[in-house]
Amino acid sequence: MGELGLLGSTINGYGCAGVSNVASGLITKAVERVDSGYRSGMSVQSSLVMGGIDEFGTQEQKDKYLPQMAKGKLLGAFGLTEPNHGSDPGSMETTAKPHPTKKGYFSISGAKTWITNSPIADVLLVWAKLHGTGKIRGFLIERSECPPGTLETPAIKNKNGLRASLTGMIQLDECPVPEANMFPDVEGLRGPFSCLNSARFGIAWGVTGALEDCISRARTYALERKQFKGNPIAKYQLVQKKLADATTDAAMGTLAAIQVGRLKDKGEAVPEMISMIKRQNCDRALHNARVLQEIFGGNAVSDEYGIGRHVANLFVTQTYEGQSDIHSTSPLSVRRVLREADKLSGLILGRAITGLQAFV
Ligand SMILES: Cc1cc2nc3c(=O)[nH]c(=O)nc-3n(C[C@H](O)[C@H](O)[C@H](O)COP(=O)(O)OP(=O)(O)OC[C@H]3O[C@@H](n4cnc5c(N)ncnc54)[C@H](O)[C@@H]3O)c2cc1C
Repeated sequence: MGELGLLGSTINGYGCAGVSNVASGLITKAVERVDSGYRSGMSVQSSLVMGGIDEFGTQEQKDKYLPQMAKGKLLGAFGLTEPNHGSDPGSMETTAKPHPTKKGYFSISGAKTWITNSPIADVLLVWAKLHGTGKIRGFLIERSECPPGTLETPAIKNKNGLRASLTGMIQLDECPVPEANMFPDVEGLRGPFSCLNSARFGIAWGVTGALEDCISRARTYALERKQFKGNPIAKYQLVQKKLADATTDAAMGTLAAIQVGRLKDKGEAVPEMISMIKRQNCDRALHNARVLQEIFGGNAVSDEYGIGRHVANLFVTQTYEGQSDIHSTSPLSVRRVLREADKLSGLILGRAITGLQAFV
């Protein structure tokens, strides 16, 4: 991915491609068509860690990490979720306080869980509450600099979804981190939420790629599988409806993501738009993948057909970076959604019909 320029592709400079948000969305979609876990590894590196450093890091932090991360020589992880605090990261327990013996260092203690890439990451962007202010701050923790016993990143084994991506914990026990490794200015949830916003935009694109692969697999299967008088099951309208519903949602989801991408490129996208497309595209991709799974009958249970893998993966996409129900409730300002919906829908409706024709 580093050699292809896929990592941190929207960042300008530091060896990154500097492409538009729409172009990066198309990359994400193509990668997730392979597997959502494959895309997750790329998104964490690109949007959550490189994006965070680019937006909030000091010049020294950018110069030190971004070129190596762009090449894939350094791998990043993003530690926000904790065992007791998932949807409600504002209640996190991880803390950073002045190190008792090392001058110019913080001492960070706490636990993060369900962290993509953590078992093998070189740079861990960890969010912790700063002693004294109680405000959330971002810290870049370099694995190679941590004394033994202060940082452990055990893998979470036997996952039934996102198996192509490594997930683990981050356990910090009075880990010394140089003060220069803290993001200097950003405080509170604005830091992590800003990184998540960009990653959620990628997820909204990516899941349409996974859904398109489900449609393609289901279509091929339905044409080959014959039941009742030697008819391919694709001949039956009940089966066709499943394919038509999924195709419509994939096309509409793609169009919505394109529109938000264009607005993002013009600096006009707002977080509520990204919440809307993340929630909608994930929900529709998961629903349709589950329905398409039925076309495979008993064979759906076999890994060989790939559909069950997408279904398990899409459950994760609906859950991480804000579970769908959470996106529908507290973070959304209903008034702003209604106001922005106009901007969102204008182009989508205009292009929906041509888009659908092109897709089918
Ligand atoms: C494979 C994988 C990779 C991940 N990678 C990362 C990563 O790299 N970095 C990271 O920081 N995190 C990561 N996560 C964690 C993920 O972001 C969290 O799992 C997610 O935020 C949900 O938190 P939770 O699991 O604690 O669920 P909970 O917050 O406990 O929620 C459980 C259920 O309760 C519902 N619920 C909670 N509060 C409310 C409410 N107020 N109103 C209505 N319903 C509510 C939720 O919608 C959900 O359905 C990953 C998770 C997975 C599975």
